[in-house]
This record gives sequence, C-alpha cells and structure tokens, in this order.
Amino acid sequence: MLTIKAEKVKNHINGEWVESTGKEIEEIPNPANGKIIAYVPLSSKEDVDRATEAAAAAYPSWSKVPVPQRSRLLYSYLELLKKNKEELAQIITLENGKTLKDARGEVQRGIEAVELATSTPSLMMGDALPSIAEGIDGSICRYPLGVVAGITPFNFPMMIPLWMFPLAIACGNTFVLKTSERTPVLAGKLVELFYQSGFPKGVLNLVHGGKDVVNGLIEHPDVEAISFVGSEPVANHVYKSATSCGKRVQALAGAKNHAVVLPDCNMEKTVQGVIGAAFASSGERCMACSVVAVADDVADEFIGKLVEETNKLKVGDGAKEGNFVGPLIREQHRQRVLDYIESGITEGAELRVDGRDPEIEDEGYFVGATIFDHVQTDMKIWQDELFAPVLSIVRVKDLEEGIRITNQSRFANGAVIYTGSGKAAQQFREQIDAGMVGINVNVPAPMAFFSFAGNKVSFYGDLGTNGKDGVQFYTRKKVVTERWF
Ligand code: NAD
Repeated sequence: MLTIKAEKVKNHINGEWVESTGKEIEEIPNPANGKIIAYVPLSSKEDVDRATEAAAAAYPSWSKVPVPQRSRLLYSYLELLKKNKEELAQIITLENGKTLKDARGEVQRGIEAVELATSTPSLMMGDALPSIAEGIDGSICRYPLGVVAGITPFNFPMMIPLWMFPLAIACGNTFVLKTSERTPVLAGKLVELFYQSGFPKGVLNLVHGGKDVVNGLIEHPDVEAISFVGSEPVANHVYKSATSCGKRVQALAGAKNHAVVLPDCNMEKTVQGVIGAAFASSGERCMACSVVAVADDVADEFIGKLVEETNKLKVGDGAKEGNFVGPLIREQHRQRVLDYIESGITEGAELRVDGRDPEIEDEGYFVGATIFDHVQTDMKIWQDELFAPVLSIVRVKDLEEGIRITNQSRFANGAVIYTGSGKAAQQFREQIDAGMVGINVNVPAPMAFFSFAGNKVSFYGDLGTNGKDGVQFYTRKKVVTERWF
C-alpha cells in the first residue's frame, strides 16, 4: 500500500510549486486510521491574486494556440493519467477513504472526462449557413472566455477536477483550481502530470484552501466564470455571489437520490443494485441512492433480501481487499451521521440494519451500512442529504405514489426505477423530476459525452458539466453575418 511523507502541500502558480502565504494550516488524516498524511495551508487573498494574475498572463498566448494543438497536449495528459492509474487510485483511497475498487472506478471516470476534452476540435465547431440573403453568409464561431476558476468537493478528488480544467483549457481558457481542503494530495498529482505533458506555464494554477480562497475567486475581476461542485448551501452562496459579480456560473449542489422498486422488477439485480448505489463509497456520492420507495406488494420480500445481503457487507479500511464500506471523511461527519440515525429512531422509523457500531479492526471514522424501514416524508432522514451509508425505505401503494413522493424532495439530482415494464419506465421517465434518470441501472451517472447536472436545488445555473453543455459553458459565441463586394 502507498505511503507518503506527511508534508505541507504547495500551491502551483505560473508553472512553479510555491509555498502558500496563508498562516493557517490543517491536518489531513487518513480517514481509515486517523494518521496524518499531509498538511494543507489555507491560502491567502495574496495567493489567489498571484494565481489569477498568472492565469490572466497566460491567457492571450494560450487562447491563440490552435485548437488541434491544444487537443494534442491533452492526449499526452491522457496517456500519463493512464500510466499512473494505480498510484492515483491509491492516493484517493489514502486521503478520501473510499475502497480501492471505488477509487479505481473514479480514476476511470476522470480519464473519460479527459477523453471528452481531447475531442474539442469537433465539439467547439460552430455552425454556418451560406446564402442567408443574396450574397450574404451567416455563421457562428465559439471563443474561450478567459480565466476560469474551478472549486471542487472532497468526495471525488480526481473525477470532478477533471470534469472542469481539461475541457476549459482545451477550449482555450486558462484555469485556477481550488480543490477541497480535505483532499489536497491528489490535486497536486493531477497538476504534476499536467505539466509533464508539456503545457505552457500559467495555463493551470492550483491554490489550496477553504472559503476565503473561494470568495477571493468569486470577487476577483479577472475571473470570468466559475465551475462549482459541492453542498447545497455553498452552491447557493457561490451562484448568487458570483452571478452578482457578473460571472458565468455553474454550481452543482447536494442531492438525495430516490429509487422506485415495482413488483415486476428483477429482484436479485435490484437488491444488488440498491446495495451498490446506497453503500459503495460509504454513500458519500452525489448520485448515491438514499431512499427507496418500494411498492407494498413486493416490500416484505425486497426488504428481507436487502437486509440479508447488507448484513454480509464488510466495513473497514478501503485499502484492504474485501471491505465494501470504507470510512467517512472526518470524525465530525461521523458524529453528524450518528445524530441523524438517532433522529430516525426518535421520529419512529424502524431500524432494520444498525451500522452505528460496526465490528472492525481499524480506528477510523466508520459507520456501517444502515437501513431504516417505514420512513415517512416528514422525517429528517428522508428530507436531508446525509451523505452516508444510510438508506431510508418508504412503502408506497404503486408507481404513481412512488413518483409523487419522490417529487416532493427539494433535491432532484438522480432517480432510478427498477421494473420489467416498459410502460412503467416510460411513465417514470416522463413524470419524475430529476436531472439524471435511470431505468434498471443503479447509479445513473452519465458518461462524460453527456452533460451532468440535476434539477431543483441540486443545481444552480443553466449549463451542466461535461458534454456539449460543458463546451458551451466554457465558450462564448459570435454570430457573424458577412457580405463581400
Ligand atoms: P462543500 O460544499 O463543503 O465544499 C465544496 C467546496 O466549497 C470546497 O472546495 C470547500 O472548500 C468550499 N467551501 C466550503 N464551505 C464554503 C463556504 N462557506 N464558502 C465558500 N466556499 C466553501 O462540499 P463537500 O462536503 O466537499 O462535498 C460534498 C457535497 O458535494 C455533497 O453535498 C454532495 O452532494 C455534493 N456533490 C455534488 C455533486 C453534483 O454533481 N451535484 C457531485 C459531488 C458532490
């Protein structure tokens, strides 16, 4: 297993590793055992200014590099990421806690986002219509914006930064990245490999820190656009404050994803699917399944099998083979989750699997897979995002009630139906309010060539990340009408 020397991570500004001038420093523990693996500085406004200045200085020449040439550099980056797959996965497990299997899956999803960015010559292409009037042609061309900032959460330290900077940079922008202060190590590795691929200095800059760095980027006049992924209250704050500063913003926010299980589902696959969606990555996924609305006719059978299979899941250090549920990110988060489990009991839900005190050898921040039955929509465990391996089951009469209840959630990121009926699936697709819909798939996270975003308070903005939305977000259009004499 990978071990690293516990050092203070550095910012990367204008092609160089530099010490942050921030005075505050936080410890980064391995969530599986609490041992310190690194220290992160909370960078200052001065660091934000330096990084943004470097990105602004790199922009005029970088934006003029021909699009295919920009794309070729990304091909080199892609190769380096592939070559370092295993080390990247091990760093993710070390600082985030998710199992190595989940971390390897994340590395693959990040690589797919870079694959998308290598297609920028096709994706950035405009439209043209000759002869819109006699002797006059019309066309649309896309141009980069300038300096873009990316702010990312702890739960996908590789995939989410890679949703942002490769595509933004391929479109001709320069970038300032602020990853989660709880997972800063992988960010450094992503930047190291980026510069090994041959990019000119200042194109990508990394500033470690917390909310002061975020607010510094929001207020900085040279930042044209902000890509944000994180919790709902912070997404709301970033969207409102950055748009009021005149910036373009996409802010992907919190979630509470629901599955509807109908009597005609494939029972075995549904049970396995729900287990993977609810408990892998310890439920710390914006696409985790947190609620199942199960039809009365099949509820006892489904819950019986789900409980039986869940009791077999091993909890422990994600770096050790065979563990399915790794630790939560911090002790404080574990305490918050335990409080939610307590509230579920107090509010009258039936605790069918109790993960509060899992049998484990490791000393980290663990909560085992937990299942509540007979959950009602007025309970906190139904309403709030727990971001934990805690699954709520609501019993419903039929599909209509399942859809009606699911649509009462203030979140609307993903939703899934398990059924053998095409008609039911069609009705679900039409009536469910969710940005990403699954039919007999466990986690309906779209591939990178589609866009990724939710509805309601799960998303603030107009254009999601990835796919054509991502390219539109990172470019502005000019519509040209031309006549020649
Ligand atoms: P978070 O909101 O705490 O942090 C996200 C980023 O915002 C971090 O870089 C952090 O430093 C910064 N930040 C935190 N508090 C801030 C404040 N008060 N002002 C300004 N900036 C602040 O989120 P997290 O705990 O790191 O990540 C988990 C959350 O992210 C969950 O809610 C999850 O659903 C969400 N998420 C959403 C998606 C999606 O696609 N919708 C994907 C992944 C994660």
